[in-house]
Amino acid sequence: MPRWSELTQASFEREARETKVAVMVTCSIEAHGNHLPLGTDMILPSFLAEKVAQRTKAMVLPPIPFGESWSFDVFKGTVSLRPETLLMVYRDVMKAVFRQGFKFIVALNGHGGNSTLLRQAAEEATEGHDGAVIIVNWWDDLAKSVRAEILETPDGHAGEDETSEVLAVRPDLVDMKAAKDARVRTSFRIVSASRREELLPRGIYGEPQSATAEKGKAIMERAEEELIQLVEQLEQGKLPISR
Ligand SMILES: [Zn+2]
Repeated sequence: MPRWSELTQASFEREARETKVAVMVTCSIEAHGNHLPLGTDMILPSFLAEKVAQRTKAMVLPPIPFGESWSFDVFKGTVSLRPETLLMVYRDVMKAVFRQGFKFIVALNGHGGNSTLLRQAAEEATEGHDGAVIIVNWWDDLAKSVRAEILETPDGHAGEDETSEVLAVRPDLVDMKAAKDARVRTSFRIVSASRREELLPRGIYGEPQSATAEKGKAIMERAEEELIQLVEQLEQGKLPISR
């Protein structure tokens, strides 16, 4: 069970010889309505990363809790890093991991606001060697077919999908009595620091009232299988590409 932070120097050296793959978990601490925990975007990818630690030899780093959450920064409990801070954190972590001899970094990302920064950091961190960063926006890239089949409402934030998923893995942290649907629609990208509460009522964009633990369990199980497949493929030195 190669969990980076739990190994000694000597056991790290031994375990690192067994794998080419490190898993970096990138998260956010931000408002998810009044029904989901602030750490939703950490809890879900961390659950999947733990499965990787249990089932493969890939080295799993401790999660980076804070992300880029500007849109939610006006809501209670959100802790957001500035893009430039987060870019430096991601780049430094990636460079350190490559320096330890890993060939592939799976950036298992739990939050949309982090994606472009992960990409930018990866561009810089892979300069000058043959390593690769595989960015997995898990809610988007994994379990696509199951999501399409069982979810009754579109993607969102703190909506049917996320609420179902937390119900499946940490039901003790969900307050379904407080789950209220909210989806402000627009065809445009409206940016306004002072109107964030109007655009994202209570930090919700979606239909949490349609959530069930069964839906969440089906999504998490499929996501786990697809992620394990990816890691196993990388362990064989193969990028997840087809021609
Ligand atoms: Zn979320």
